[in-house]
Amino acid sequence: MTDFGTFVDELRAAANPYASFDDRKAFRARHATLLAQMLVCLDEVGVIGANPMHVDPPAHCDLCSADLAQEVVFIDGETRLDSTTVSDPDGVTRQIGAWANMCFACFSRDGVAVGWGSGQLYVQRRPGEWQCIAGGDPRAQDVDE
Ligand SMILES: [Zn+2]
Repeated sequence: MTDFGTFVDELRAAANPYASFDDRKAFRARHATLLAQMLVCLDEVGVIGANPMHVDPPAHCDLCSADLAQEVVFIDGETRLDSTTVSDPDGVTRQIGAWANMCFACFSRDGVAVGWGSGQLYVQRRPGEWQCIAGGDPRAQDVDE
């Protein structure tokens, strides 16, 4: 486990405006479980939380078939499974894993990260009503975008 001082130093480095996409993605992946747990706690204490509701939430985890109605959170995100090679418009090649709706246990084992382009973290506010608390489009102006 990473000590908190090291985590904060790495967070500040990743948040630097000159940090690359790949450096930021690596930071998110290195601390995926801690970041997801921290986001849920930050939501619980009211630091974050005003984000869109899921318009068509999944009923089950795509990986283990867990009934998501019994879960507090799920992650709609990239997995470490079934990766394929993709090239962006600049010709940069990356390995991208298959996407899945994951319960927290499956995310901790097979998920990549929470963050735009990696995964959205949803909290169940009322039965069947899921709100994105992290990882949504940082530039979205409307819930339909
Ligand atoms: Zn699962």
